[in-house]
Amino acid sequence: MSGILVIGGGVGGLTLALCLHRNGIPCTVLEAAAELRPLGVGVNILPHAAAELARLGLEPALAAVCVQPSEANFFNRFGQHVHREALGRAAGYDHPQLSLHRADLHAALLAAARERLGADAILLDRRVAHVGQDEDGVTVEFTPGRDGTVPPALRGSVAIGSDGIHSALRRQLYPREGDPKYTGYNMWRGVTRWPPVLNGASMTRVGWLKNGKMVLYPIRRHEDGTQLLNWVFEVETETHRSRRDWNRPGEVEDFMPWIRDWVFDWLDVPAMVRASEVVLEFPMVDQDPLPRWTFGRVTLLGDAAHPMVPRGSNGAGQSVLDARCLADRLARHADDPEAALKAYEAVRLPATTQVVLTNRKNPPDVILREVFLRTGDRPFARIEDVMSREEMLAITGGYKQVAGYDLETLKARPAGA
Ligand SMILES: Cc1cc2nc3c(=O)[nH]c(=O)nc-3n(C[C@H](O)[C@H](O)[C@H](O)COP(=O)(O)OP(=O)(O)OC[C@H]3O[C@@H](n4cnc5c(N)ncnc54)[C@H](O)[C@@H]3O)c2cc1C
Repeated sequence: MSGILVIGGGVGGLTLALCLHRNGIPCTVLEAAAELRPLGVGVNILPHAAAELARLGLEPALAAVCVQPSEANFFNRFGQHVHREALGRAAGYDHPQLSLHRADLHAALLAAARERLGADAILLDRRVAHVGQDEDGVTVEFTPGRDGTVPPALRGSVAIGSDGIHSALRRQLYPREGDPKYTGYNMWRGVTRWPPVLNGASMTRVGWLKNGKMVLYPIRRHEDGTQLLNWVFEVETETHRSRRDWNRPGEVEDFMPWIRDWVFDWLDVPAMVRASEVVLEFPMVDQDPLPRWTFGRVTLLGDAAHPMVPRGSNGAGQSVLDARCLADRLARHADDPEAALKAYEAVRLPATTQVVLTNRKNPPDVILREVFLRTGDRPFARIEDVMSREEMLAITGGYKQVAGYDLETLKARPAGA
């Protein structure tokens, strides 16, 4: 019996392993990849999830590889400034917002997990095919590994499906659901080594979806004063080319028509994008929220449980919050793992359902939708005549409440809760 079986060693699975270890609960992580390579581009961790990672003692490792954004800036597609507000510690939070390369986040989690749990607790080249269960535990079966042989099945007390957006366990539990659904927007992402933009620690949004919207933020600082700038361009299109593959290469010229004129006094967007080291393309997809994640000794976590469109910087952070909650419920109900999984679901399913639905319709970016609609997508003379600062703060404040990181809620929470 291998304790708790964590299926998938991504951000959620490794955080869960670290939280379980902190609570003295043994686990084994089963990861499909035969080797873990530095893949992906930028991710953000908001202050509520940063607090959980700090509680795991990861703050120094993450501080060394991230940029802590201090402000959010919003612009229309003519480069006119619409809104600015403070982020992270600059906004009064006890913990920063972290902007970093997904590979750096994953590497920090993996190093800590290997050191604390032992290298044997993280098994690579173990793609889970099926999970069975009986009164005493679960049995996890695998597909053939890289050498063509099928690794022996493993027994555990419970199995957690943290196997990402194309989760095998979710497909087993919901066989008729089908692939994640296209939401009508295509997306290109990339990273460019570039001089600091604005104050060098700005999470910047430009434009609106009909004519294209870009989000950009720095994720690494270099000694020569340049930064690694992460950018995401998103535009409404009826068709898309592929399922969401985190590593599908993209072509800058495919979206250049939308941004050709985005040459602003604070950033030459076409030049920055053309200088990219990496360009990836994938469709914006998500799934409708599920009615339940927990089936006896099996449950889902992270993207497997609640794949969401990546707006609002919440994908990785919500998996971190899931992990903390689940590890604590498993500690509290040590003799009754089924009750623990149900208690976890009762907290995290409604909370993440709200985030999935709000990311579709009302992320912080809708400030730019309002400006787009009210100006008829034309330059404005004075932003105050288009939209008040109070209205904009109400939009971003509403999102913070839905995603669980409004300042008042976090300040009111007792330390370690
Ligand atoms: C390679 C990669 C690159 C990414 N790049 C970005 C990015 O640039 N920006 C961004 O915002 N988000 C990115 N993400 C997604 C982001 O990490 C997640 O949205 C978020 O962190 C939630 O984490 P998760 O653990 O639920 O899922 P993930 O971090 O996606 O982890 C899922 C893990 O499960 C493994 N797995 C899948 N199927 C099986 C199986 N059957 N058996 C065992 N293991 C399995 C995968 O290999 C992966 O390691 C990326 C994910 C991956 C896997």
